[in-house]
Amino acid sequence: MVRDEGASGRRGAAREIVVAGGGLPGLALALALRQALGDTVRVTVCDPAFGRADPPRDLRAYAVAAAARRMLERLRVWDAVAPGAQPIREMVITDSRLADPVRPTFLTFEGEVAEGEPFAHMIEGGGLLIALRDAAAAAGVVLETSPVLAALPETDRITARLPDGRQIRADLVVAADGARSRLREAAGIGWVGWSYPQSGIVATVAHERDHEGRAIEHFLPSGPFAVLPLPPGGSLGHRSSIVWTERQAEVPALIGGGPEEALTEVERRFGLSLGRIALESPLRAYPLAFGIARRFGARRLLLLGDAAHVIHPIAGQGLNLGLRSAAALAEALTDTMRLGLDPGGPEALETYERSRRFDTLAMGAATDGLNRLFSTDALPVRLARDLGLGLVDRLPGLKRMFIREAAGLRGRQPRLMRGEAL
Ligand SMILES: Cc1cc2nc3c(=O)[nH]c(=O)nc-3n(C[C@H](O)[C@H](O)[C@H](O)COP(=O)(O)OP(=O)(O)OC[C@H]3O[C@@H](n4cnc5c(N)ncnc54)[C@H](O)[C@@H]3O)c2cc1C
Repeated sequence: MVRDEGASGRRGAAREIVVAGGGLPGLALALALRQALGDTVRVTVCDPAFGRADPPRDLRAYAVAAAARRMLERLRVWDAVAPGAQPIREMVITDSRLADPVRPTFLTFEGEVAEGEPFAHMIEGGGLLIALRDAAAAAGVVLETSPVLAALPETDRITARLPDGRQIRADLVVAADGARSRLREAAGIGWVGWSYPQSGIVATVAHERDHEGRAIEHFLPSGPFAVLPLPPGGSLGHRSSIVWTERQAEVPALIGGGPEEALTEVERRFGLSLGRIALESPLRAYPLAFGIARRFGARRLLLLGDAAHVIHPIAGQGLNLGLRSAAALAEALTDTMRLGLDPGGPEALETYERSRRFDTLAMGAATDGLNRLFSTDALPVRLARDLGLGLVDRLPGLKRMFIREAAGLRGRQPRLMRGEAL
């Protein structure tokens, strides 16, 4: 079956956009387009994950920066996730070896960017995905449980092929199909990047004492160990999410044993400041990589989220970057279509590429540099970085700048991230 409702060449008919990949950036884009353009655009999001019976179980919890929160408010999904969102009120940075008896604090940040506005909230991934998916369906986005096998461009259309032989002919396909994007590769778009010899291990940890909204980043020689506050709950009354960066070769020995051995390893890094701890979830390891697509699109195909750029989670900015790209792409496509232009034409691609290239490169370079600086035990490097951290701690202006950067509020923001309508 061929569904052909694209409008190129047919005045008055709705435009057709297919988003391949229903992760958070893909769904956010689809929702933003429908909210801005209503029935003048038909949006289909294809993802085999929609067909799985159990709800999405993403063990990752995300630090959603203030700018991304403003976008979620504008998309009217924030109210659905707010009850499960934990404001980050303070951030503490320590730098030590694993065996050191004390972990001296080198840097603290108060967590507000404006009166009563935290620079970030912690949100569990599964809940955010469900909220975005429900809002997209309610806005008329078609959720399709098949993957897109191929996207074949022609002059004025692109055909998305589904596994059961169906085809959707559209004006544009957005590839939001993750870091190993099949559609990016098939389009011949190059990728510059490398794998880190590290994995990111994530889990939810219960603890006895209240974290009081404090996020802690322990810089240890094998990489950062982040403790990020979650709303109360769990077997000991309070919970935090951990993102533990470890040398890849060590991971099987560290987390491959039984739950008790794994808990002992977590305890060694987590410390005792929050009292007794227990594991609330299994430990799951993700390979870590850096990469950026050489172009953010090809003929009638645009890249979004991890399909366009992957960064180290050291600063918790991967999803925020993906949402910022979704906001910029929604803006470029909406403006293009309101002018009566073709969303699959060169104008939207150029605007999108121009608005995102520098920001993405800058964020990628910053997270890569931070990881290199902090994942080492070399004494001169440790002394220099601790001196730097101590210096920043005494300069309130610089601290404010860093907090605004972490909140995603520095530089020019897409309209949705300023909390404005498209
Ligand atoms: C350990 C770790 C911790 C992190 N912590 C943070 C954090 O605190 N804050 C933050 O901002 N970011 C964080 N990130 C980064 C963040 O997880 C990613 O940037 C984000 O999940 C990317 O979303 P995505 O939708 O682009 O890709 P993915 O989440 O990979 O989703 C891709 C989707 O596409 C679907 N798909 C695949 N192939 C096809 C196809 N052919 N057709 C249709 N659908 C397809 C898949 O089923 C999937 O649903 C972290 C990453 C790691 C590894």
